[in-house]
Amino acid sequence: MPKISPFSIVVYLSCVLSVCACQPTGFSVAAHETEEEIAIVEAEEIEVVKDSISLTALWDSLQRGQMVFAVDSVDRLSPKEAKQRLRDSIITELNKHKKHIYLTFDDGPLIGSAYIDSIVTAKGVKMSAFLVGKHAQMSKKLNRDFQRYMDNPLVACYNHSYSHAGNRFDAFYSNPDLAVADFEKCEQDLGLSEKIARLPGRNIWLFDEVRRVDLASGTQAADLLAVNGFRIYGWDVEWRINGLTGEPVQTVDEVYTRINNRLGNKSTLIPNNLVLLMHDDMFQSHRGQQQLIELIDLLQRHDDYAFEFIGDYPFRY
Ligand SMILES: [Zn+2]
Repeated sequence: MPKISPFSIVVYLSCVLSVCACQPTGFSVAAHETEEEIAIVEAEEIEVVKDSISLTALWDSLQRGQMVFAVDSVDRLSPKEAKQRLRDSIITELNKHKKHIYLTFDDGPLIGSAYIDSIVTAKGVKMSAFLVGKHAQMSKKLNRDFQRYMDNPLVACYNHSYSHAGNRFDAFYSNPDLAVADFEKCEQDLGLSEKIARLPGRNIWLFDEVRRVDLASGTQAADLLAVNGFRIYGWDVEWRINGLTGEPVQTVDEVYTRINNRLGNKSTLIPNNLVLLMHDDMFQSHRGQQQLIELIDLLQRHDDYAFEFIGDYPFRY
């Protein structure tokens, strides 16, 4: 493990204190601590913190185990307790900021799409549609529904491939060149303006410095898409679809509680940002549509929740 230099400790503490300066409560504990109490080990990390101190960066360092806490001889805190105290402080500070929710709907246009379009319009909330190129050509009605999405300023349209991998994901991802060509066909056919994609059957995030992969078999295709300028987004919470009935699996309360918990305990990929995955065909029935309305109503009761487009992801504090 690299050595801790006094300079590093001072830099880190001064960063914490600069955060405290405008935040009187959460970090105030740190203002009374001495240099020995909290330390960061890696000098390179210190430079990052020094140049761009943010709650999100602090949280990230803490989560990655990049901070080391020494014994606190003054308050008799163990390193574990000191870490917990900093963790609680960051959460308190983050909770003073907005929480950003991204309602994302995959696989449209499908039968549910027109209803979703009407619901978000009535509620005045932003949504993101990850579209399947082939579906827009399956019927005149679906093509009209696709156009409704494109014409609606509350709907941002993104790329979910042309063929949806024919639902044979392993075969699709085993040929990255063909996979990229499939996404490019979708982009051209639908006239999509932003190079933003979600991979069929894979929860992969690949943008800026972020790289999170659920199944390794999609990574080569994802990397090649990134080389071709695409930003790839997965999801934090899925409102699952029942394969037999086509209706949502979890109740509205279950999804709502999960969203609140994940935002509250900062367990989303980036704190204060939550991407919810749904599928257009979950909302073809009246029951499904009512559930979507109920969920949006519940979320809208939080003054600190804001609905965003994936193109604006993420908001960092
Ligand atoms: Zn899909």
